[in-house]
Amino acid sequence: MEARDTDILILGSGGAGLFAALHAHKAAPGASITVAVKGLLGKSGCTRMVQGGYNVALAPGDSIERHFMDTIEGGAWLCDQDLAWKLVKLAVERIRELENELGCFFDRNPDGTVHQKAFAGQTFDRTVHKGDLTGIEIINRLAEQVWSRKIARLEEHRAVELVKDASGKAIAGVLFIDMRTGQYVLVRAKAVLLATGGGPTMYRYHTPSGDKSCDGLAMALRAGLRMRDMEMVQFHPTGLLAGAHTRMTGTVLEEGLRGSGGYLLNGERERFMDRYDPKLERATRDIVSRAIFAEMRRGKTTPYGGVYISMAHLGPDRVRREFKGMVERCADCGFDLAGGLVEVVPTAHYMMGGVEFALDCSTALSGLYVAGEDSGGVHGANRLGGNGVANSTVFGAVAGDSMAAWIRGAQFSVPDKSLVEEAVARCERPFGRPPANLEALRERLYDVMWEKVGILRDAQGLAEAAGELAALDASLDEQGIGKAGRAFNLTWHDWLNLKSLVAVSRAICAAAAAREDSRGAHFREDFPERGPLESSAFTSIAADGRVLMKPVAFTRVRPGESLLKSAA
Ligand SMILES: Cc1cc2nc3c(=O)[nH]c(=O)nc-3n(C[C@H](O)[C@H](O)[C@H](O)COP(=O)(O)OP(=O)(O)OC[C@H]3O[C@@H](n4cnc5c(N)ncnc54)[C@H](O)[C@@H]3O)c2cc1C
Repeated sequence: MEARDTDILILGSGGAGLFAALHAHKAAPGASITVAVKGLLGKSGCTRMVQGGYNVALAPGDSIERHFMDTIEGGAWLCDQDLAWKLVKLAVERIRELENELGCFFDRNPDGTVHQKAFAGQTFDRTVHKGDLTGIEIINRLAEQVWSRKIARLEEHRAVELVKDASGKAIAGVLFIDMRTGQYVLVRAKAVLLATGGGPTMYRYHTPSGDKSCDGLAMALRAGLRMRDMEMVQFHPTGLLAGAHTRMTGTVLEEGLRGSGGYLLNGERERFMDRYDPKLERATRDIVSRAIFAEMRRGKTTPYGGVYISMAHLGPDRVRREFKGMVERCADCGFDLAGGLVEVVPTAHYMMGGVEFALDCSTALSGLYVAGEDSGGVHGANRLGGNGVANSTVFGAVAGDSMAAWIRGAQFSVPDKSLVEEAVARCERPFGRPPANLEALRERLYDVMWEKVGILRDAQGLAEAAGELAALDASLDEQGIGKAGRAFNLTWHDWLNLKSLVAVSRAICAAAAAREDSRGAHFREDFPERGPLESSAFTSIAADGRVLMKPVAFTRVRPGESLLKSAA
């Protein structure tokens, strides 16, 4: 097995991974830093796919207190308040760094100030953007900066195990499969960042990039780390619905469409949001997704089985000008966004849940850090649109600074050989077994998660889902990929993807069964009440599937209070 050493090892090259690399390099210029990524650096992950933009309190009239309160209210009071405060405070620094040091160009007003647009669930228009393709601007500039520094890259290297030392208390390195050759690579590191970006691709309709299959979360569970808020899976209300024959189905039509005044119509072309929320189409994502799902259940659907979004009343020229990328995406699928109707369906978009972590991004495993969508606690029960990329860049930078400080006194640990051997054996399992119909297993996973662990849940459905997911895991273990070769064997990687997705689906299902109320993205038809905010608790799950309910610490503001009032 190939072996390498690096002081700092970063898993993933999204906003979190690349910011961590740049900050670690700045804070510890002599350290060896390696970014290892399942895809290509600069071309993979979801940060590149960010359309709408980046929330930050910049404008006069806005404030970090207001941004914070929107985040807490949006998160249904389940956020870790100190993490949320750090998010809103450091977002201001990060957006300045992106513009003034890293070279991003964001859209501007005629007076030269940064243009900030409306996003749902916010009391102030604070979303910074570059048209509706903001993520490409951010990731291209970050990637250029990383390429120009002495930062090593391991591309198309899939992390498969967080390898601890023999004590089991500290990280010693990470085991990878070099996807190009199919060989194993063991990288020892003093500090490791988990930034593989979560990604709820276990649902029939989903938005994240194809390289994301919850590998990081599955590895963290196996390593004994606790996850919080795993039941909180955000559905974006407006996934494009263009039929089962195209991968465009499920991809997101950005929130700015509703933010700027778009209407949702059911299959009978009636506007329906007034029956669900006074904020109409500008209600938060959870509310709008449930409303659409309810209309679908009533049978008021479009030809492909969803609802419509309509923008024409805003003026086709304006829509074409402001949402060029969205108009083109819809046109590719035969829809006219500017002047006609486009079919949409709620689509699994983001995981609020993830690894429990501290303010400096450290975890319970010494030397292991986490940032971005792999982490849990910043958004509580619901992430505001625009807070995702803020989260990954803010905490990626924090993690880079923390790891640079950590490695100063740290030594390399010796990887526990038995863990490496077990991990290799687990990965090798499908070789030589009779070829499976992985597509059929994936369809089973899609069905069970969409029907029973999706937008509406109840105890019976969740219990059935738990059984079906266990059976699915067992089926995967029995099925194989035949005698195929190892180099770029995408069937093998599909099998590994499914193993990760099923493991994390089981955690989502168990946390959803444990939460007997309805908050944010989690709605129980058998427990539709939100429950008292004062006694809010979050779920915390470990690999054994047991869920603890831990009280939320209201460290900055209590339910019923507001930082805005006390600031006034
Ligand atoms: C279509 C879309 C639109 C979005 N729009 C917005 C928006 O407008 N505003 C907003 O705030 N947020 C938005 N989001 C959410 C936002 O993209 C994410 O919150 C954020 O970018 C996640 O950053 P990250 O660095 O954690 O992960 P990512 O950017 O997803 O990066 C993950 C990285 O990990 C790598 N990886 C995965 N598995 C492995 C493995 N096993 N080994 C090694 N590497 C691995 C991937 O290849 C990738 O490089 C959007 C998401 C999507 C999907």
